[in-house]
Amino acid sequence: MKVKLLDLTAQYVKIRNEVMEAVAEVFESQYFILGPKVAELEKRVAEYCGTKDAVGVASGSDAILLCLMALGIGTGDEVITTPYTFFSTVSSITRLGARPVFADIDPETYNIDPSAVTNAITDRTKAILVVHLYGQTADMDPILKAAGTSGIPVIEDSCQAIGAEYRGRRAGSMGLAGCFSFFPSKNLGGAGDGGMITTGDEELAEHLRRLRNHGGRERYCHDEVGINSRLDAVQAAVLLVKLRYLDAWSDGRIGNAARYDEVLGCIDGIATPVVSEENRHIYNQYVIRVPRRDELRSFLQDSDIGCEIYYPVPLHLQKCFSFLGGAEGDCPEAERAALETLALPVFTELTPEMQEYAAGKIAEFYRPDGSE
Ligand SMILES: *Cc1c(COP(=O)(O)O)cnc(C)c1O
Repeated sequence: MKVKLLDLTAQYVKIRNEVMEAVAEVFESQYFILGPKVAELEKRVAEYCGTKDAVGVASGSDAILLCLMALGIGTGDEVITTPYTFFSTVSSITRLGARPVFADIDPETYNIDPSAVTNAITDRTKAILVVHLYGQTADMDPILKAAGTSGIPVIEDSCQAIGAEYRGRRAGSMGLAGCFSFFPSKNLGGAGDGGMITTGDEELAEHLRRLRNHGGRERYCHDEVGINSRLDAVQAAVLLVKLRYLDAWSDGRIGNAARYDEVLGCIDGIATPVVSEENRHIYNQYVIRVPRRDELRSFLQDSDIGCEIYYPVPLHLQKCFSFLGGAEGDCPEAERAALETLALPVFTELTPEMQEYAAGKIAEFYRPDGSE
């Protein structure tokens, strides 16, 4: 048996006709950039996330960059964030000449630790960029409280967490703005790159609409410098089709996660994901913490089971950020997670047979003699 980490074809074949019809409609209209499809998707995503507005952009990375640009963040400013995330969370900060200040993670959820955030606040802190890693929101209440006290805006990197909930609130609706990615491997993935920013602040939304289109107020009149980061109509058309299935797909992932929890949770040494009862984890990734991680990874790969390390090098230790002076030991929990965690296949269409095979191989690795 072969089990991929993610099988997008298994999803596509079920919605092929709808997707192709929606794409054909865009081609017939020859309206490719922004336009009515993008406006409709913005409306639907805002509704889905529980925000007033949403702004379609070219990628999740641009969504983060544009939010920081809109806040006027630049040289000398500090942005508090996590070292244990996808690269562009942090590169968006350094691209603007600002300084990422790393707050270590909670070892159970792998999300930024609220007390580390509080300790990192200085009078140069211009934003807190929280990441909802793997599909589970960070512990937002204490972070929002600390930020509120100091008057610091909170941006939610929700690229892995569309539809995730924290005490009844959706990812992207708790801070000033939420950043989403439609990279094909996300729970809501497009047919290429795409992204969205959700916000309840209408002025910010209008500002972001200008910034994504070169900063112009009207055509060829620029009060400030923006970028070209528009969402295209083909992406919006595909995403509008897929958005209708998103909750069912995420529920499928949640079901798969529950089955892994049951089987893997009773193997000595394996830490399955920790989720608070009040929260909805949408499992963009199902990540376990294990002893002998690299050996397990090779064993699974040899057994044709896809698995991956997210992320092997914490960002404070990346070469390109060495000018920040980060060193080993700065964020011990992020460093330990980078050595001990492994993502398993959890996609919606994973069959019970595939899952049994994958879980069985993991059990075999830790109990070679078949003991209980
Ligand atoms: C995917 C992702 C991004 C970047 O999104 P792109 O659309 O690929 O630019 C940023 N942050 C996190 C946490 C992500 O998972």
